[in-house]
Amino acid sequence: RLILGIESSCDETGFGIVRLGPDGSLELLADEVASSVEEHARFGGVVPEVASRAHLEALVPTLRRALDTAKVELSQIHSIAVTAGPGLAGALLVGVSAAKAYAAALGKPLYGVNHLAGHVAADTLQHGPLPQRCLALLVSGGHSQLLLVEGGLANSITEIGSTVDDAAGEAYDKVARLLDLPYPGGPPIDKLAKQGNGCAIAFPRGLTGPRDAKYDFSFSGLKTSVARWVERAERAGEEIPLADVAASFQEAVADVLTAKAIRAAKDLDVGTLVISGGVAANSRLSGLAAERCAEAGIELRVPRPRLCTDNGAMIAALGAHLVAAGAKPSPLDLSTTPGLPVGTVQIL
Ligand code: ATP
Ligand code: MG
Ligand code: FE
Repeated sequence: RLILGIESSCDETGFGIVRLGPDGSLELLADEVASSVEEHARFGGVVPEVASRAHLEALVPTLRRALDTAKVELSQIHSIAVTAGPGLAGALLVGVSAAKAYAAALGKPLYGVNHLAGHVAADTLQHGPLPQRCLALLVSGGHSQLLLVEGGLANSITEIGSTVDDAAGEAYDKVARLLDLPYPGGPPIDKLAKQGNGCAIAFPRGLTGPRDAKYDFSFSGLKTSVARWVERAERAGEEIPLADVAASFQEAVADVLTAKAIRAAKDLDVGTLVISGGVAANSRLSGLAAERCAEAGIELRVPRPRLCTDNGAMIAALGAHLVAAGAKPSPLDLSTTPGLPVGTVQIL
């Protein structure tokens, strides 16, 4: 059975095609993405109207590419999965409208699914099915959460912690801006940090005090602390050691994320940690997580960078898990839900 996945929640138009085997196995046949990120770069963040228009323009050509790559016809598709939320209202609407049109015209079942659960599903394309219980650290441009996944993604996702202010990716983007690095900030900071010393500057680790919420995150204080540090150095006429600032900021983020994830895994007696979302592409985060998971005897799964950032393949994967679990399709008049909570895997 072939599952088509459609993603348009932010600035990537993604179409993915996944083959669901009779044994529940997933085979990735196509993963085509068109990004409008360059159109947003000069604004330092995604401009919703620009993103919606770009989705509209990219929709048909990107779907064509996906079908060509997979060497399949639209008529061979078994089911269509589309991101119904969370995300930008106008951007979501483009993908959901297209999905409804294709589902109605072709007479195929439609699944309106959760983008965040999709980020976790991306990992199953690379590492196979999830164990009965696992912990997911979802770190992206708009979210930072610790999730307990039980009985597979189609069954139950419980949020056990989240950021109380900025998302990890948002912190990367804001710090990049104040260091005059391009948007999005994750990749350039990751690269620059490799030439710096992560112990050079002791930036604060948010919410790690004894009385703080055990599994919640805070990154806005860290961002402010980096800003203050740079301002002070500038006032003193010092040259800013950009690589050390980047490395020390990155160390603070990776330290808190991995420490809390491992603590939660131990407390909840979970043997597997999945890290996903755009920030999972970060080299220091995956490196430090690998060290600490090995010490703690926890299995670590991090998908390749291409599967970490937004794409349609992850939505197709989540759709395939729902089809495999025998889930009912969503109604054809399903509405987009910009604030969809992570626990709602599918719109019914
Ligand atoms: P959400 O999934 O919460 O709706 P989003 O879809 O915009 O948000 P993603 O595409 O999953 O987010 O991730 C984008 C974020 O990932 C950006 O903030 C970007 O800076 C960050 N990012 C990408 N690569 C890296 C990297 N190597 N290191 C750190 N951050 C990275
Ligand atoms: Mg993006
Ligand atoms: Fe995302």
